[in-house]
Amino acid sequence: MDNCIFCKIVNKEIPSKIRYEDENFLAIDDIYPKAKVHILLITKKHFLSLDEIDDNTLLEEILPVAKKIAHKNGLVTGYRIVINTKEDGGQEVEHFHLHILGGSKLSSKM
Ligand code: AMP
Ligand code: ZN
Repeated sequence: MDNCIFCKIVNKEIPSKIRYEDENFLAIDDIYPKAKVHILLITKKHFLSLDEIDDNTLLEEILPVAKKIAHKNGLVTGYRIVINTKEDGGQEVEHFHLHILGGSKLSSKM
């Protein structure tokens, strides 16, 4: 997708700190971390948001992958998974991604 920053990251046109990669997903450090560990798990295929994902296999795969990434990055005492979806959900980058946050006790529930 032209002009999509996460497509450019997936295509390695923009540098990122890669934490995990497989056929369907790329995980990178968030450039403005909101926790000690803040990783974004991005689908390689462009979907505008969770609502546009028409491939349930991808959705079945993503949580086990997120769990694995959390554990591999030392989040053994807990972490938070966030999927901001569209305008009311506070989504800023219009390419589906899931946030993995942790590394210390997170302050608020939301
Ligand atoms: P969201 O509000 O859920 O769309 O989150 C988008 C996230 O992408 C924010 O936490 C940003 O800090 C992060 N972000 C934006 N540009 C980049 C980038 N070039 N590399 C890594 N993270 C980014
Ligand atoms: Zn994209």
